[in-house]
Amino acid sequence: MPAAFDTSYDFALQADASDSLARFKQEFYFPKHENKDVIYFCGNSLGLQPKNVEAAVNTELTSWRELAVGGYFNGPNPWLYYQQYARTSLSKLVGCLEPEVTVMNALTVNLHLLMLSFYKPRGERNKILMEAGAFPSDQYAAETLLKHYDLDPADCIVEVAPRTGEKTLHTEDILQTINDLGNSLAMVLFGGMNYYTGQLFDMQAITAAAHKNGAVAGFDLAHVAGNVPVQLHNWEVDFAVWCSYKYLNAGPGAAGGVYIHEKHSSDINTPRLGGWWGNNESTRFKMEKGFVPKADAGGWNISTAQVFNTVALKASLSIFDEAGIDALREKSLRLTAYLEYLLQQLNNPAFEIITPADPTARGAQLSLYFKEKGKEIHERMISNGIIVDYREPGVIRVAPAPLYCSFADVHRFYSILKEHF
Ligand SMILES: *Cc1c(COP(=O)(O)O)cnc(C)c1O
Repeated sequence: MPAAFDTSYDFALQADASDSLARFKQEFYFPKHENKDVIYFCGNSLGLQPKNVEAAVNTELTSWRELAVGGYFNGPNPWLYYQQYARTSLSKLVGCLEPEVTVMNALTVNLHLLMLSFYKPRGERNKILMEAGAFPSDQYAAETLLKHYDLDPADCIVEVAPRTGEKTLHTEDILQTINDLGNSLAMVLFGGMNYYTGQLFDMQAITAAAHKNGAVAGFDLAHVAGNVPVQLHNWEVDFAVWCSYKYLNAGPGAAGGVYIHEKHSSDINTPRLGGWWGNNESTRFKMEKGFVPKADAGGWNISTAQVFNTVALKASLSIFDEAGIDALREKSLRLTAYLEYLLQQLNNPAFEIITPADPTARGAQLSLYFKEKGKEIHERMISNGIIVDYREPGVIRVAPAPLYCSFADVHRFYSILKEHF
């Protein structure tokens, strides 16, 4: 990206001055380091607290205090419908119809629930295709589900791995593996983005290949939701799950997101594990025998809406609505390209950027692989008030989330790294 950037601090200040989203930084609380706000590049792990969360929590505390059980039907946000309040905003972030999305439980729990709906091993069609090095919880979920069916994970889980000497996957290798598996493939279960390398996968192409071979395609969007806009409905993705505490800033343990394509979620005969909260509202409180699910993603809700695990999500999503995911992505592309540019100017063999250079194959994160001293550099960043994370082996993940990170923040990271070498 020649000419677009330069290495001066002045350039960063100019870029921030002309950034129409810069004001959103003020909407978040930052931890302090030596009495100053830290620079926070860890939104891919736990997003910052939006300042509007406290009032939103207080609203629900007041409803509980003053209305008690009446809070389900009255108050500013009747709890009976609480899961629906996130729908409009989430459908914009993941590109789906409102009835295709709901919030409940947490990510891995939801992954289990949806795999139970969509993984239907029949005879030789029992393989699950995953990316090698998927997030451990996803690996454990697939492994234990297979054992639950008395199937052998070593036999049924097929992984696509990087080519020798490489760290990320080629789309053609993923598609080739899907085609090779053919009739034995039951389900593709991929991260939308790999948490370690930051590689964003071509979900549209992967889904099309899975369907062509008679299989379903599901994605874990933990690192995608609120980071990169996607089009789950138009891409005909069968199902997806994500957590709300990374780029979505809804706080530790916040209720997770679930998407189920209309062709499955509007069909009340799609198999699922049910509970009363997924039952049709008109008969839910009749307490009768016979589960009749809602004809939308809410038909997968099992238990009472988790109001206090969802309230911060509701508050945080109002910020996404205001900023707009397309504008955020535009800033993010520029901010990440700027980080990449600065790192390239260091021209230092001590580290390598393992995240794809293609902007359409990544989001806000760059993963820097240090052959040695990665841990030392990580500590150096922390002691300078820059929060990044370190993952074995040797990787510092830097995620300049566009809602609360600036060009000046990125420049500071660069100058500390520069001093270190
Ligand atoms: C963060 C993350 C998880 C965490 O799952 P929880 O059930 O929310 O603890 C799972 N999978 C991926 C890919 C993640 O990035």
